[in-house]
Amino acid sequence: MRVNNIPPLDLTRQYRQIAEEVDAKVLNILRSGRYIGGQSVADFEIAFTAYIGTQECVGCNSGTDALYLALRALNIGEGDEVITSPFTFIATAETISEVRATPVFVDIDRSTFNLDSDRLEAAITPKTKAILPVHLFGRPADMTGLMAVAQKYNVSVIEDCAQATGAEWMGQKVGNIGNIGCFSFFPTKNLGAFGDGGAVTTNDPEIAAMVRMLKEHGQKQRYIHDAIGVNSRLDALQAAILTIKLRYLDEWNEKRSRLAQRYRELLQSCSQIALPSTPEQGKSVWNQFTIRILSGKRDEVRDRLQEKGISSMIYYPRPLHLQPVYQHLNYQAGQLPNSESVADEVLSLPMFPELSEEEQDRVVYGLKDCF
Ligand SMILES: *Cc1c(COP(=O)(O)O)cnc(C)c1O
Repeated sequence: MRVNNIPPLDLTRQYRQIAEEVDAKVLNILRSGRYIGGQSVADFEIAFTAYIGTQECVGCNSGTDALYLALRALNIGEGDEVITSPFTFIATAETISEVRATPVFVDIDRSTFNLDSDRLEAAITPKTKAILPVHLFGRPADMTGLMAVAQKYNVSVIEDCAQATGAEWMGQKVGNIGNIGCFSFFPTKNLGAFGDGGAVTTNDPEIAAMVRMLKEHGQKQRYIHDAIGVNSRLDALQAAILTIKLRYLDEWNEKRSRLAQRYRELLQSCSQIALPSTPEQGKSVWNQFTIRILSGKRDEVRDRLQEKGISSMIYYPRPLHLQPVYQHLNYQAGQLPNSESVADEVLSLPMFPELSEEEQDRVVYGLKDCF
């Protein structure tokens, strides 16, 4: 019998579920001749605003652009410092550097993979302009501790919500807690487009207006340019697809949550594995189900799973403070020990709403077989 490989995620299954609706809508737009902006983008911005609960949402080209636009809208630039996590995708810090500010890396909490809010205060300086937490793998960061420090020192908070659309902290959606929320609609995120896309959310109309201006070549009025901006559009096609998919997001996140619970039950007896913790005051949306291999043989486990046709992923193999591009910041190995040890231990198991229990069972047996 031929056994199918288990992918880390399979986007075609989700497409098949909504193909009829999506195909009809896409054809409609193709026939309309209206490919940029228009009602389709406006409709999505309204729907996403309602979903997150903020007053404003501005669509843009990617999660990376959302971060860049947020930093620019807060007038963060040369000489400023932004505190962030070293255990994240490069875009989080890259955009800080892009606006010529300096990323200041603070170590994470090993059990949550997120910024350790108890370490924030020690990193605040007169140059600190913002704290940029990441809700990594779909799990909300400790926004209570973080907001307390931000308020005490009067610095802004930009939430990197790229992996956490729909996640909550104390009953509030992420992206509606700090000053600005930044979302990615890259296909592998919880709310994924069929290409690139992103959004900025905020309750501050001035910030929203600034983002809108900057993403359109710095113009408020056509052909009158007040600032050096960028071209960062959410496509009409992507916006229409996202509006359809947003209606399914809670259902899909619920399925991820059930799979996560099932992984936990099936793997809890395995002493060589540390399971991801579930937030007590919040709700994770499980963009990834990331375990830590405590035997020191993570790469071996990954290879053995691969031999059995089971794909697992390493997010992220090297923390940002030790990346070649940040050598000039002079961080030393050992300086942020939690981020560094976690980078050697993490393994993300297959996780997507359409993963079947049979496939999940194979992942679990395959994994147990490695020890
Ligand atoms: C995906 C991601 C981004 C960037 O989003 P893009 O849409 O790919 O530009 C930023 N931060 C984190 C944590 C991400 O996972």
